[in-house]
Amino acid sequence: MDHLNYCPTCFELSLSLSSKGVIFVYINGLKLQNGHFLFNLEKQTRQELSQTILLKIEECLKWHAKLKNPRPIKDISIVSDDFICENNSSHLIGKKISVMEYFFEPDNYYRSIKLLCEKLSLPFSLEIS
Ligand SMILES: [Zn+2]
Repeated sequence: MDHLNYCPTCFELSLSLSSKGVIFVYINGLKLQNGHFLFNLEKQTRQELSQTILLKIEECLKWHAKLKNPRPIKDISIVSDDFICENNSSHLIGKKISVMEYFFEPDNYYRSIKLLCEKLSLPFSLEIS
């Protein structure tokens, strides 16, 4: 994996995604009971996984669309705590870090989510971070 993240333990740009683990989807800071899935980069391409992520986001958005007066979709995070630090930092478990940039160009990611919200008639006010 070529993308590196800042390590929350040693504060260096030394963190890369593990080849296997779990990705969690949070919408407006909330995670649905089934808002996560296993990934395995030895068996799935990044392209395949980006599709899986969008399907999972759609599933979670559908749930939000069924709520009475759904709150506008402001924030969708895709995170994992399955990372490896080049400096061998420990205590990474439980520290969830965004995996968005491993699978999407930020512009494409927000455009895809906007389209999903429109398709489901969900109000949204996405903040691009
Ligand atoms: Zn580290």
